[in-house]
Amino acid sequence: KSESTLSIIVVGASGDLARNKIFPSLFALFYEDRLPESFTIFGYARSIMTNEELRNRISRTLTCRIGKRENCNKKMEHFLKRCFYHSGQYSSEEHFLELDNKLKEKETGRLSNRLFYLAIPPNMFMDVVRCAKRRASSQNGWTRVIVEKPFGRDAESSKELTRNIQQYLTEDQIFRIDHHLGEELVENLLVLRFSNLVFEPLWSRSYIRNVQLIFSEDFGIEGRGSYFDNHGIIRDIMQNHLLQILALFAMETPVSLDAEDIRNEKVKVLRSMTTVKLQDVVVGQYNGYCEGDASYPGYTDDPTVSDDSLTPTFAAATLFINNARWDGVPFMMIAGKALHSKRAEIRVQFRHVPGNLYNRKFGTDLDKTTNELVIRVQPDEAIYLKINHKVPGLGMRMDCSDLNLLYKARYPTEIPDAYERLVLDAIEGERRLFMRSDELDAAWNVFTPLLKELEKKKIVPELYTYGSRGPVGVHYLAAKHNVRWGEFGYDQD
Ligand code: NAP
Repeated sequence: KSESTLSIIVVGASGDLARNKIFPSLFALFYEDRLPESFTIFGYARSIMTNEELRNRISRTLTCRIGKRENCNKKMEHFLKRCFYHSGQYSSEEHFLELDNKLKEKETGRLSNRLFYLAIPPNMFMDVVRCAKRRASSQNGWTRVIVEKPFGRDAESSKELTRNIQQYLTEDQIFRIDHHLGEELVENLLVLRFSNLVFEPLWSRSYIRNVQLIFSEDFGIEGRGSYFDNHGIIRDIMQNHLLQILALFAMETPVSLDAEDIRNEKVKVLRSMTTVKLQDVVVGQYNGYCEGDASYPGYTDDPTVSDDSLTPTFAAATLFINNARWDGVPFMMIAGKALHSKRAEIRVQFRHVPGNLYNRKFGTDLDKTTNELVIRVQPDEAIYLKINHKVPGLGMRMDCSDLNLLYKARYPTEIPDAYERLVLDAIEGERRLFMRSDELDAAWNVFTPLLKELEKKKIVPELYTYGSRGPVGVHYLAAKHNVRWGEFGYDQD
């Protein structure tokens, strides 16, 4: 008899997230022998489906990594045999009891651990948490719940959601997932900072002029407006993904790599931040454009969005951290949909070399001789540092080039999907990359006054064309905070 068994229950198994991300990640973990010997996966949703129908549905999205295709089909068969489906209502304790009975049939170990993944709309969260807790919790092992965003709409609703969830679950049972935190380069940020002597001493207001956190998508809302139009880009990307990355970037050295030590430092950063001011923000919304036969609909042209929607699809905001390390350094966040490129990156612009001999003698453009460190999270993960050097030849001409660690060149293996890392962490009880409730509160406090002001004053977003580099206002905002934007910045391909 094995020591313990693991049951993973994917609630909302009929949905897109389950099919495209959760089941493929679970299979990848199985393929890599990262799941316990004895495990069972149950899909749960209202749709009526047999086990076979669920297996057919998910089998289309399972893949084996390039270069690791041996036994791929056999592994898939084994995996699918361990996947089952139970149809039920999200608010029915009786249906969760039926699920519990089915789980018990499969649980043969001494300890039965259960991981619920809630891939359902947020208005269903509480029903599922209540039913799962009352009727389908493990009796002798652990029960954990992965919750997908959104975690509320503002500080108050988020607090209320946390309070409600905590009626049924303790903090260490809740895993609030922000899949961008599972990206390879986000994990690498801490390695870069804390295991290289060359970066950490420069990581402060003394040497860093500004930091840019950029997240752009090259496609629009495309029929998914019912969720987005109620949230907008600030809630969707800035308040969670970008703020989390900012906290990891700016935190002090934690006591250890333990989750609580890291999260303690992140909370301190978030609590040291001033709330975002309306005058430090530019909001935008894309409008449509036609070129030849191709036409790109504007945001309000989408049938799932109202014609008079003021929801921002783009925002740029300058944030400040009021502590000894970062006082006065602008952290500029930029996030947008339907822009000219898809990318996520952190750009660190360093200060000018004081009394630069070469500028004095050759009159080189000061900004061009500023070092910049870029951590590109996607696409083509890379870390590169722009350095100044002499162009070979007689005479003295300066140039700026990249010391470039391009991951696909250095490691020609496929990088695991962010969901894989995070699901594995939840199974192993590693909470480092999941948000604690006090972090969530502090993160909402940074943005809630701005969100309320935007809505109360009905601020009209500046229009920008689908596929462009965003609204013009962002250049003024950058200039106001002395952020070099353009040649070095995100609009360089
Ligand atoms: P989805 O396909 O819209 O919904 C998942 C399942 O929930 C559906 O198959 C449906 O199952 C059930 N459902 C849908 N609308 C419902 C309603 N109004 N009332 C009750 N049940 C409903 O969503 P998804 O794309 O898989 O994402 C799941 C959740 O993850 C989202 O709600 C969102 O909060 C979060 N999320 C998703 C992504 C993403 O990339 N897709 C990213 C971040 C966060 P049945 O009808 O069979 O019960």
